[in-house]
Amino acid sequence: MNSKIGIVGAGIQGISNALFLQKKGFDITIFDREEPGSKVTSYGNAGHFSPYASLSLNRTDVLADVPAMLLSSTGPLALKWNYIPKMIPWFIKFIKNTTKNKMMHTAKYMHQILNLALPAYDELFDEINLENLVENKGILYIWDNKDLKSRELEIKVRDELGVKQQLVNKHEIHDLEPHIKPFYHAGVYYPYARHARNPKKILLKFFELFLKKGGKFVKENVETINFSSNNKPLIKTNFNSYSFDKAVISCGAFSKKLTDQVNEKIPLDTERGYHVHFKGYDHLLSRPVIFLNRGFGITPMEQGLRVVGTVEFGGLDNPPSKKRIQNLVNNAKYLFPQLEKHEDEWLGFRPTLPDFLPVLGPSKNHKNLFYSFGHHHLGWTLGAISGKILAGMIAEENTNLDLSAYNSLRFS
Ligand SMILES: Cc1cc2nc3c(=O)[nH]c(=O)nc-3n(C[C@H](O)[C@H](O)[C@H](O)COP(=O)(O)OP(=O)(O)OC[C@H]3O[C@@H](n4cnc5c(N)ncnc54)[C@H](O)[C@@H]3O)c2cc1C
Repeated sequence: MNSKIGIVGAGIQGISNALFLQKKGFDITIFDREEPGSKVTSYGNAGHFSPYASLSLNRTDVLADVPAMLLSSTGPLALKWNYIPKMIPWFIKFIKNTTKNKMMHTAKYMHQILNLALPAYDELFDEINLENLVENKGILYIWDNKDLKSRELEIKVRDELGVKQQLVNKHEIHDLEPHIKPFYHAGVYYPYARHARNPKKILLKFFELFLKKGGKFVKENVETINFSSNNKPLIKTNFNSYSFDKAVISCGAFSKKLTDQVNEKIPLDTERGYHVHFKGYDHLLSRPVIFLNRGFGITPMEQGLRVVGTVEFGGLDNPPSKKRIQNLVNNAKYLFPQLEKHEDEWLGFRPTLPDFLPVLGPSKNHKNLFYSFGHHHLGWTLGAISGKILAGMIAEENTNLDLSAYNSLRFS
């Protein structure tokens, strides 16, 4: 088998797709307008490998919480007001996905792939020198008294799905993370979760492996994907046209520009998120900690403490919000009053569908075009498994997974 496949996007999705397709003998070219490892979403995330996170934001209690979250100066939610009119159709679809049935549908199908996420990464990690870039110290969520109610839903749903979780009290939290100011009341610990010490370095190691295996990279902006009379894709960039047997769109939040052109109305939008670094302070934490009341997290990384958070609805073109950065900085100092100057303010774009399931599978209109995008808050965790599943689909292999829930047909 030596079919030629063009993949648009060199984020964690595109590169993982490429590596699993190469294992099956396909000849792969990746297109990206940026160098791999540049400051796109796969570079700046919190680095959590969180296979437990099956309950997504389309939960039954979310709508009641929105007004308070929007009004709170320390809260995670924000809007760019100029973007609201464009976002209304997405919001309406999102609201329809917050019923109990829809919430459980998403949780079940997220759980199906999350459960396979770490073993799929191990298949890729076995082929690179990981050099301590992934830590196996678990991930810890903490909260103070006020927020307990909404956490109960999360814990209950995860219990129902068979997700292993360990409730921890104040003393246990202190034993795990002694440097955090002890404002917390309780928490939940996922000991088998992992974190990346530097997502960029991991991406670059995967990219080197891809090149070593004969993969090609074209640093050009993909403008359109057309189809020949025998339905073969023709990828047209700002410089050239390239023909393939099959193509994959995995451009994260930017995928909609291409899917619109092939006449599929997929309601992809973005939840913008931010990070800052406090260099030289990573010794203060052993593992990622998320303070749930304020919806932000801190991960110890090679760059220092990476403080990550915010769900901002504002599209792809609005400038970053200084207020959101300040919110992260203030929140970090609430946990660690000794923090001083922050650096590296960064904005990224979570690719999110209103039902909080990714799109994985063939295009509705073109049998040789495939999609792998829309992994919202979990695209880093789901990189390898999505790549593995998509490679299996393209190779037309049988699977015992139920993959229908990820098909773009659900929006037709
Ligand atoms: C603040 C924040 C924290 C996060 N934390 C976590 C976490 O801890 N754990 C987790 O699992 N997930 C996390 N995520 C989510 C995760 O980072 C994303 O879901 C994931 O990185 C998306 O990967 P991707 O490959 O789909 O897209 P991207 O990383 O955005 O890559 C898409 C690529 O496509 C390229 N591209 C786009 N359009 C074109 C075009 N027309 N032509 C050529 N190239 C193009 C871009 O340049 C880019 O390189 C976080 C996200 C944010 C914003």
